[in-house]
Amino acid sequence: MQIVTIGNVQITPIQDTSILMNPRQFMPEHGEAFATEYAHLADERGLMPMSITCFLVRSAGKNVLIDTGLGARRRPGFPEGKLDKALAAAGIAPGDIDIVVHTHLHIDHTGWNTVDEPDGSKRIFFPNAQFYIQQVEWDYWMQPKFMENPAHPHLADTVEPLTNSGKIRFSRGEEAIDENLVFVHAPGHTPGHVAIGIQSAGEKAIIIGDASHHPVQLDHPDWSPAFDADPSVSAKTRDRLFENAIAEERTFIAGHWDYPGMGRIVRVGGKRVFQAL
Ligand SMILES: [Zn+2]
Repeated sequence: MQIVTIGNVQITPIQDTSILMNPRQFMPEHGEAFATEYAHLADERGLMPMSITCFLVRSAGKNVLIDTGLGARRRPGFPEGKLDKALAAAGIAPGDIDIVVHTHLHIDHTGWNTVDEPDGSKRIFFPNAQFYIQQVEWDYWMQPKFMENPAHPHLADTVEPLTNSGKIRFSRGEEAIDENLVFVHAPGHTPGHVAIGIQSAGEKAIIIGDASHHPVQLDHPDWSPAFDADPSVSAKTRDRLFENAIAEERTFIAGHWDYPGMGRIVRVGGKRVFQAL
């Protein structure tokens, strides 16, 4: 298991599941160009590897989990998550997680917040965790038009059960999470989407959430997937995060890039290039 050290902070990738992506479905507007230009990244069926990776961050004496994957439920069109086993392999029990930080509240980022009990009730999977959630993001998804929409079943299963648990800490904008971790404004994918900045002992990293889904966006930051809420804002956000990672030599960590999605972005011959760790 690969562990990245940023000053006094340790980051361990925790893969919930790998996925295969069809570029024509993923970015319908640019699917043909994507499939043609980047054919070398595809398998014989034209599918490209992606991941649903969460990150265990050991910081300031606490175990912080960034996002919680797809979860244990069987959902049409999605594989079943294995984050529980990946955490156990890292020596971590659910009760060891002190803080869960959500970059946003999509189905593949909140899954393990709860598990289903035999009686149908939802049990919070991390019994000792506080859940850090941006207020803007919470208010957006808790609107009845989303809660009542069958396209978003995870809201009732994995988000709403936190409501009266006393375990949510609502955050506003670029607040500090602890002495090393800070929320970074990164809107576009969803209205309250945030990245997580890490700075310790002179070293820096950023966990970008869903500001980018694939390294093809290093060349084409304006290629936004269909499910970005505001594709023009998300394009500006990802371009800014790429450039900031280069300028500040930040370790760049992307949970949907091929596992483990950790490395450096450098400029080679005028092009942005990802160098995996
Ligand atoms: Zn996602």
